[in-house]
Amino acid sequence: MFVHVAVPVPTLDLLTYRIPPETPVPSIGARVVVPIGTRSVTGIVVAIDVSAGGLNAADVKAVRDVLDHESFIPPDVVDLARWTAEYYGAGAGETITAVLPPKTRGERADSHKTRRIAMLTAAGMEGLERGTAKQRDALATIGGSVTGISTAELAAKGFSADTLARLARQGLISFRQEVLDRDPFDSSTLSVEAADPDRQLTIDQESALKRLTRLAAAGTFRAALLHGVTGSGKTEIYVRLAAAQRAAGRGTIMLVPEIALTPAIAATFRQAFGERVAIQHSGLSDGERHDQWQRIRRGDVDIVVGTRSAVFAPIRRPGLIVVDEEHDTSYKQEESPRYNGRDVAIVRAQRAGALVVLGSATPSMETYQNAASGKFEHIVLSNRVMDRALAAVTVVDMREEYAAGGPDVILSRALTASLAHRVEQREQAVVLLNRRGFATAAFCRQCAGTVDCPNCSVSLVIHGEGSARRARCHYCNYTARVPTTCPLCAAPYMEQAGFGTERVEAEVKRVVPSARVARLDRDAVRRKGALAALLSRFRDGDIDVLVGTQMIAKGHDFPRVTLVGVVSADVGLGLADFRASERTFQLITQVAGRAGRGDRPGEAIVQTIYPDHYSIQLACHQDYRAFFEREMKFRQAMRYPPQVSLINTVVRARTYTAAMDDAAAIVQQLRQIDQKEFRVLGPAPAPLGRLRGEYRVQFLLKSTNRKRMREALLNVLAKRPDVARRTTVDVDPVSVL
Ligand code: ADP
Ligand code: ZN
Repeated sequence: MFVHVAVPVPTLDLLTYRIPPETPVPSIGARVVVPIGTRSVTGIVVAIDVSAGGLNAADVKAVRDVLDHESFIPPDVVDLARWTAEYYGAGAGETITAVLPPKTRGERADSHKTRRIAMLTAAGMEGLERGTAKQRDALATIGGSVTGISTAELAAKGFSADTLARLARQGLISFRQEVLDRDPFDSSTLSVEAADPDRQLTIDQESALKRLTRLAAAGTFRAALLHGVTGSGKTEIYVRLAAAQRAAGRGTIMLVPEIALTPAIAATFRQAFGERVAIQHSGLSDGERHDQWQRIRRGDVDIVVGTRSAVFAPIRRPGLIVVDEEHDTSYKQEESPRYNGRDVAIVRAQRAGALVVLGSATPSMETYQNAASGKFEHIVLSNRVMDRALAAVTVVDMREEYAAGGPDVILSRALTASLAHRVEQREQAVVLLNRRGFATAAFCRQCAGTVDCPNCSVSLVIHGEGSARRARCHYCNYTARVPTTCPLCAAPYMEQAGFGTERVEAEVKRVVPSARVARLDRDAVRRKGALAALLSRFRDGDIDVLVGTQMIAKGHDFPRVTLVGVVSADVGLGLADFRASERTFQLITQVAGRAGRGDRPGEAIVQTIYPDHYSIQLACHQDYRAFFEREMKFRQAMRYPPQVSLINTVVRARTYTAAMDDAAAIVQQLRQIDQKEFRVLGPAPAPLGRLRGEYRVQFLLKSTNRKRMREALLNVLAKRPDVARRTTVDVDPVSVL
């Protein structure tokens, strides 16, 4: 008997092994230990009873150990992972093992962490006639809890293992093992307003819920876009849909872009469903993730809340998959397998006969196109709850500010005045700049030379001030002291240019000295727990102004925020990426949506040097439909998604010439194939031409037939394994930088 085993080795993929006669045949999805060269690795059985292929049966190596007799990963999840591997051009082995939680890779299913619980027996309940005071005391303590007390807790109370053993020998107490789940819900950081099951839904919510409930009840695959403006109460709808699924005996997967940024959603589900919720995201420790995965696998939960990899959660009979903020690029994994969690969710729903709900105030072009064409249901929530108004948006033309106040102005007069006013009124504000650091570059006034990263084709970003000042690469983390003399011409005239969040933070402190200001970006929350602490301080009103990157734009619900400032709304527009306008529109709309979510109306002030750009104009008017139509014209004219499918291929090499030659050789092969099927653009140096010491050359494939195009590319690469190893294939890229 032969089986196919997926192994976590990128280039090896699926391997064939023999099951020795005395070994029980494993199920699909079981873990097995197999030999690879001189090593042993744990893999997953993906097919049983297969032929030995072209191999001589005697040469096929035997499986060393079968860790599970039943499937460890449910077969539907194994299939989903295989689909993912194929669609994204990744190895099946690499993909299947990537969907496993960490630490499940070698342990037996039963080697789970447990604790020992002591409880009274019937005899024990009658009490102790003879024995020491200590024993009597122990018995009384244990009897004080109906469910028993763990031996660890008893030890902490001073009852030794010996005391307990004596009681057990007398038949007065017994022990049981309890599976110990580490609880990743840190209740101290979750101060959310309780979801109220009796809350009156708005008319919008009511009709959306009715339509979605009907779709879900059909028991067949359906996809719906829940297009609701910021603050329209989408979460409430998700919770009620999940409750209906639970009542019908089906599970729910609730995907969010980044749980660390929206701990509230996990808390809301926890409040509604108690113990029947599991949480899955990369911020958990390996142990926590492993425990949660096991709970789902055992059927102890009905609802999984998690980030993109939770789409592979082993939940039973999924009936509903929600992808909240479906447009968010965090759903795309930027390493192989380069899957988009949203799209895998759609496929999983399709296979499970489930409803998939894609929620967003700013849907991706792809999703809106599907809704507009009738492929997806289109459900709209056009009003905020409690008739709250969307923030009134003012656009400030920064060219006028520079004319009035000089080229170094960071905060416009309007934003400065409004910040001061809001702080005085004891209201809160958020200020967005999607660029980290203090200054964006150091340059020489004499020769205009910049301080660049030795490994990447970017200039180093200046962080900190005074003695804490450092220059750092945002791609490879290379760090250096900021030179006082120019590294090129040795002149002592180094200056700083551009500004990032650190500088904005300092500037807000300067113009509103009474404000308590904090910063939220990746640098500020490196320490574990720092993010949750910062968010709860803001929520509790201990911070007046929160300055940050796009992290502050995501999903937060802070009722006391009445002002949103956007400094340099056009940061993203300069990027050579076809999604630049879409991203800018989304970011401004989302961050403006953070204002006015409480009783007081909100205001947004958007600073830009391109006040007439359509993505900025239409975001300020919160006119999604007009944006979609305008942007679609551009995508159609330039033949970009969703008009066509795209594959971005990047070839890396030690020298530029090698990267270019290899890419050109692949492209030439592709051009020999029927050019009616697809078009090849390139090769050309990637916008980020050098990264971590390697040169990068890219080419794009465009076609309306994604499958043909992918197969052609993979076939050509298969003939050049030396190049393939240094090549990244990105199907449906969210960015082509
Ligand atoms: P969205 O995700 O659409 O931006 P949320 O789900 O965060 O909106 O809801 C915004 C706020 O409105 C939350 O504080 C939520 O508790 C509240 N909310 C939701 N539905 C209602 C309702 N029917 N009545 C009153 N408040 C509601
Ligand atoms: Zn670098």
